[in-house]
Amino acid sequence: MESKIILPERDMPRQWYNALPDLPTPLAPPLEPGSGKPVTPDMLAPIFPQAVIEQEMSPEARIDIPEPVLDIYRLFRPTPLVRAHRLEKALGVKCKIFYKDESRSPAGSHKPNTAIPQAYYNAREGVKRLATETGAGQWGTALSFACKMFGLQCTVYMVKVSYNQKPYRRILINSYGAEVFPSPSDKTQTGRDILAKDPDCQGSLGLAISEAVEDAATHEDTKYALGSVLNHVVLHQTIVGLETEKQLAMAGEKPDFLVGCVGGGSNFGGLVLPFLPRKLSGEKIRFIAAEPKACPTLTRGQFRYDYGDVARLTPLLKMHTLGHAYMPAPIHAGGLRYHGDAPIVCNLAAEGIVEARSYFQNDCFEAARLFQATEGFLPAPETSHAIKAAIDVAREAEPGQNVVFLFSGHGLLDLASYDAYMQGNLVDFEHSQEDIDESLKACPTFD
Ligand SMILES: *Cc1c(COP(=O)(O)O)cnc(C)c1O
Repeated sequence: MESKIILPERDMPRQWYNALPDLPTPLAPPLEPGSGKPVTPDMLAPIFPQAVIEQEMSPEARIDIPEPVLDIYRLFRPTPLVRAHRLEKALGVKCKIFYKDESRSPAGSHKPNTAIPQAYYNAREGVKRLATETGAGQWGTALSFACKMFGLQCTVYMVKVSYNQKPYRRILINSYGAEVFPSPSDKTQTGRDILAKDPDCQGSLGLAISEAVEDAATHEDTKYALGSVLNHVVLHQTIVGLETEKQLAMAGEKPDFLVGCVGGGSNFGGLVLPFLPRKLSGEKIRFIAAEPKACPTLTRGQFRYDYGDVARLTPLLKMHTLGHAYMPAPIHAGGLRYHGDAPIVCNLAAEGIVEARSYFQNDCFEAARLFQATEGFLPAPETSHAIKAAIDVAREAEPGQNVVFLFSGHGLLDLASYDAYMQGNLVDFEHSQEDIDESLKACPTFD
């Protein structure tokens, strides 16, 4: 078998797959924070474009990918599906291991798959500028690239500790023409209030979200873009699973295990959801989600309504949550440090259709180093969780079975974390049950 399964450009999917109409239990609606009533489209209009709001609630199983979006996708899509022969050999397993390589985008991760359509729909509706938050900088990179492609301005609120400690992502974002402010900033009321109280505040993702949402809500020509969790983001990421399905068919193979890491659930959802109809009709495919033990949303969180941000500005989503004020330990997989997960992924986890496993960061870095030593590429710390899970699953698999995992990004801008690992300076974190129970007490009771 060829080691790289390359989908011809003409066979790139022309539609995304929307899982909403196929869910065995319908998705619980997002609720308005004040009243607890379901959110209506007009409530979202100040911060999102119409096309995105429609996709968020769409009953259509297939949604056309606009031609200008396909045009930008073609800069790096279709991405290869790669057979990890050398990893299989090192492990001594008799199953086959494949990885879908999303590290080949300009941003180095899967995130442009949604940044591109979000920028396109905003530009088409006359929006001039997008505001967003970024933690370690991967989402800010993807959105600034996409804005550049469609002639939009872009403002990124970057968590201050990363802004100061990780200058390379910030420089990359600047190089795509976006402005980057350390959050908390003096650009928003939320930021000014925090700085008045605590001038040295190092920021958090929840706080940066609050700043970006406020920026969008208070400027007529500006809207907001989110890089994970929401239905439309997961929808855009299904291009990954749809391509994978075609590539496996080209190789005459069927997946037995689909594996991905989960931060907000978008890359994982994008890989597995297109296979949901096959699984529901009885095909034996297992969906395995990998998360950090330091932020064990699916494995230890509760499935209930909670806010998406610390300032409680966002609608309430029914999801697995550790509590909106949960402060995950400072692990190096910054993209996996979120208290909630995509409602679609959680809905399926609650049904037992998605299985979740959690790992310590040292075990994940060890897996990443084995991948690097065999397959050559250096994975992002987030991706290392998928690799660890894929290795475990491969060891459990039967001869001839297929393990497919999503290689969500490269680690070439995460070298400080590899340095820390190689020096033996990485600490494994796990929160006590009391900590988690305490954090969950802040969740609203709407169900
Ligand atoms: C952001 C990110 C993740 C986690 O986000 P999801 O929404 O869960 O996909 C995983 N891997 C990489 C490389 C990322 O940049």
